[in-house]
Order: sequence, then C-alpha cells, then structure tokens
Amino acid sequence: MYAEAVEMEQNISLAPYTTLGIGGPARWFAQARSEADVAAAVEFAQARSLPLFVLGGGSNLLVSDSGFPGCVVHIALRGVQQQTDGEDVLFTAAAGEEWDAFVAATVEQNCAGLECLSGIPGTAGGTPVQNVGAYGQEVSGAIEQVRALDRTNLRWVEFHNAECQFAYRSSRFNTAERERYIVTSVIYRLRRDGEPLLAYKDVAQYFAGRKGTPTLAEVRAAVRTVRQRKGMLLTPGNPDCKSAGSFFKNPVIDVAHAERLRQKYAEMPHFAAGAGCVKIPAAWLIEQAGFAKGAAMGAAGISSKHTLALVNRGGATAAAMLALRDAIRTRVAEQFGITLEQEPVYVGAEPSA
Ligand SMILES: Cc1cc2nc3c(=O)[nH]c(=O)nc-3n(C[C@H](O)[C@H](O)[C@H](O)COP(=O)(O)OP(=O)(O)OC[C@H]3O[C@@H](n4cnc5c(N)ncnc54)[C@H](O)[C@@H]3O)c2cc1C
Repeated sequence: MYAEAVEMEQNISLAPYTTLGIGGPARWFAQARSEADVAAAVEFAQARSLPLFVLGGGSNLLVSDSGFPGCVVHIALRGVQQQTDGEDVLFTAAAGEEWDAFVAATVEQNCAGLECLSGIPGTAGGTPVQNVGAYGQEVSGAIEQVRALDRTNLRWVEFHNAECQFAYRSSRFNTAERERYIVTSVIYRLRRDGEPLLAYKDVAQYFAGRKGTPTLAEVRAAVRTVRQRKGMLLTPGNPDCKSAGSFFKNPVIDVAHAERLRQKYAEMPHFAAGAGCVKIPAAWLIEQAGFAKGAAMGAAGISSKHTLALVNRGGATAAAMLALRDAIRTRVAEQFGITLEQEPVYVGAEPSA
C-alpha cells in the first residue's frame, strides 16, 4: 500500500485538458505530480473496480460527450536531468514535461536528435506511446529507455529502446499492451554538436539555395514555421489548430492493391513501406474522395490548411466529429477499398450507430 493518497477531484470537465476542446467530465480526476501519486491513483481505481485513463497533454484525444465514468490520472510529473555519455547527452524527462519546451531546451544545448519533432504538442510521456514522428524523424530514434508503472502488478519497469516495439505511430504501449503501462519518465540519447536532420522535403526546401549546413536552432525554427503554415502548430486564436493533429494514419496496403489503384489513378502518390507494402498519403485519398480543405459538417470540419486535421470549428461535439470521421471513412473505403485508421485515442463510450 502507498502511504500517501493522491487527492481525487470529482466531475471535472475534460474538454479544457484537450487540444480539440471537446468532451464531458471525468467522474474522478487526479493530478499525479510524483510516482507515488501515479501508483496511488491506480490503487484508488482498482479498489473501486473503476476504469482508469492516463491523460498527458490531451493532444491526441477525442473525449466522449458523456465523459469518462472512471478515474482520469493527469500526468503532471515535472523535471529534466542530464548526463554526458561520451559524445552524447542523456536527458531524462519526467513524463509531464511539456514536449516542445523540452525539445527547445535540447536544441539550445546544441544536442541533435529531436529537432524535427519541434512544435508537436503534448508531453514527453506521450511521445513513446505512439512513437511520435514528423519531418523524417521519429522519437524512437532518440529514446534510450522508458520507465513505467505496470498497472497489472504495481511494479516499476524500465524498457530499453528495443523492448518498446516501436513502429510507425505505434509501440507496445498502444498495441499489444495498450493501457497496461503508465510512463513516468523517458531517457533520450542525443548527440552533442550533432548534424541536424534535413531528410524531409519541406525542411530541405526551406534551406534550398543556402550554403552550409543549418544549425539545429535554424532547423527547429524552420520546422515550426512549416508547421505553422499548415496549421499544425498550436497558436492561440487560430481556428485551424483546434485539432488532435492528424486524424488518420497514412494507410499501408499491399503492392497488388496499390497497382490496381495506380491503373485507375496514375498520379496517386505512394511510398515503399517494407516488403510487399506501399504507404499512401491519407490526405490524398481524402481529397480524392471529395473532402477539400476547409470543408465542414456542422461545427466539425477539416482544417483549411491540412486535410488530415479534423477541427472543432466552435462548439463541436464528439458525436459531430465522429459523424465527419465516418463520412470520410465511408467515401474513401467505397472509392479505394481502403479503411482509414483513426490516429487519436477515443476516450469513453462511442455512441452506438
Ligand atoms: C496541432 C497538432 C499537431 C500534431 N502533430 C503531430 C506530429 O507531427 N506527429 C505526431 O506523431 N503527433 C502529432 N500530434 C499528436 C500528439 O501531439 C502526439 O501524439 C502527442 O505525443 C500526444 O501526447 P499527449 O501527452 O498529448 O498525450 P494524450 O493526448 O494525453 O494521450 C494520448 C495517448 O497516450 C496515452 N498517454 C499519454 N501520456 C501517457 C503516459 N505518461 N503513460 C502512458 N500513456 C500515456 C494516453 O492514455 C492516450 O492513450 C499533433 C497534435 C496536434 C494537436
């Protein structure tokens, strides 16, 4: 048993804790500022047979209009430590650290490895869950170790990178063992005075014609500028930012299916995605299926700058967001035989159709 009980609030609205600004209340709500708080919240929920949801920065969530009937534990552990290891620096970030501020701090110290992940909202603890990625970089390239509480036996565990089962937008934390672990800190191995990554065309284009390699700080600034142009940088007052980022993953289909589609749509963009597989940009499929940037269904809409971002245009309900999602999914499936997979996590009960 844990001596310190964590304070439990009741009927706390979850909408303000999410970037979409949608969702009903949590029956129970705890701010976990320490590992003991995290364990105490799990014990509280288990003692009452309540479901437990782990809330980070709320930037990859769609919360049900009826809220969450169990206990929500908000990860608010803070603190960053660092240690030099040869040419590398190991940064240990508590799970509740704000991600972009942490990236800024690593770039200020001229440490390479996270610069292209600048401008992504959320917490450090959320990054291993879906193996956050952008502009040619994935957080799995920098993660050394993840520390977490195993909810099944209340034991603390440390996973090395190879044990995290990282893949495109996935890890053991959101697939086979979804909801089993609560991440409390992450160690990132970064290269001091390392070269920035310029693999992605938008970032490379930004520096086109320029002599010499840009600094890490310049790449961070470039990524944030490119993100802002696409409405993918949280900016107060910008209606295109009221989103959960990309609402759909880029589908991976088999080569034969892609070939059949290319006979009909010669211009279809496609990228190799491992043996016998091809990745198709979800944004292209959605546009071809008749959903343009800026389209709307009531208060739920598509960002005017980014087809993949579904936005709350003001007062949208979760049900409205799901209706738009389903309309897009149905049309894409009918036209291309591809079922788009939702990226944000749905919290609470989905209304039955
Ligand atoms: C404008 C915008 C742009 C975005 N751009 C990108 C992008 O470029 N690339 C990208 O990959 N994502 C992007 N996202 C999605 C999102 O920012 C990331 O997925 C982020 O890492 C989510 O972290 P979070 O702390 O907000 O998690 P939350 O949204 O709070 O939670 C997401 C999931 O992770 C779980 N979780 C969170 N913290 C923990 C923890 N400590 N332990 C265990 N489980 C936990 C939750 O239970 C939930 O299942 C974007 C979102 C927005 C709004």
